[in-house]
Amino acid sequence: MTDTVRELLQSEQPTWSFEFFPPRDEVGEAQLWTALRQLESLRPSFVSVTYGAGGSTREGTVSVTERITSETTMLPLAHLTAVDHSVAELRHVISRLAAAGVRNLLALRGDPPGADPQAEWAAHPQGLRYAAELVELIKDIGDFSVGVAAFPERHPRSPDFEADTDMFVAKCRAGADFAITQMFFRVEDYLRLRDRVTARGCDVPVIAGVMPVTNVRQISRIVQLSGMAFPAELAERFAELDGDTPEHKQAVRAYGVEVATGMCERLLAEGVPGIHFITMNRSTATREVYEALAGVNAL
Ligand code: FAD
Repeated sequence: MTDTVRELLQSEQPTWSFEFFPPRDEVGEAQLWTALRQLESLRPSFVSVTYGAGGSTREGTVSVTERITSETTMLPLAHLTAVDHSVAELRHVISRLAAAGVRNLLALRGDPPGADPQAEWAAHPQGLRYAAELVELIKDIGDFSVGVAAFPERHPRSPDFEADTDMFVAKCRAGADFAITQMFFRVEDYLRLRDRVTARGCDVPVIAGVMPVTNVRQISRIVQLSGMAFPAELAERFAELDGDTPEHKQAVRAYGVEVATGMCERLLAEGVPGIHFITMNRSTATREVYEALAGVNAL
């Protein structure tokens, strides 16, 4: 098995990957492992595990990633953030992951802990301020394959697209091997980001983050957490389909799968280096998109 995302991205084939979050309790743990086992049969290029805002979910990231390495055939990518960590603590987490055989890390600054992701960001007094510094730290510790975040609609704290792109390219030049985008719902936003990055002479592959919407409540949560706009025409169609009956719920899910499949088809036709699915620890919607794409020979 190829053991880095960096190497996988050098092949002609687009990568196909899934994102999970560490479970909060036993029920969540069972749901996560059911989804992981079901999606394993699709032979993803890699699977990623997000890094929580603190405490047990952080420990969960390390233990779930370790377990993926030792108990499955899948290649793990561990997310890591600088939130509330000193450099010494970050070194410790990176060493633990390395000892478990993890070679792929997604270096993130992280959002301020607490309910409001737009709250004031404060670095740990002995910590790091920007993701670029975490990239440098990881590269200094070992030969990891390192990814960073990209934002098709720009990061909510960036004053404009130009500044956002400059900082993104600086983060790549700090040593990033690849990037994964925030989820987006307009393919044009991804293509414009790619054009801005290429225009600055940066050729780091930017994997597209896609989330099939499976219920209407997710939409307001997405907007709250990411600070991004959800396209009005899509939101209206989801609202029209929504309702209390099982038929309504099924119609919303089917439309979410249709929208995600259409986006993936266009992205693949545009030569995207990879597609990263945000699964919400469930397998069905992602499997349906995969099957629809396989049906049109897009994969
Ligand atoms: P940075 O690259 O540091 O950028 C943050 C802001 O600072 C941007 O506006 C940037 O333009 C600006 N900036 C950067 N460098 C400088 C500089 N030198 N001078 C001035 N301004 C600068 N969060 C989690 O908590 N856990 C996760 O697992 C997680 N996974 C994610 C996965 C993906 C694919 C994505 C897209 C996001 C993820 N996030 C996660 C959210 C992410 O942590 C937040 O969006 C965070 O606010 C930004 O992180 P960053 O790594 O992009 O930060």
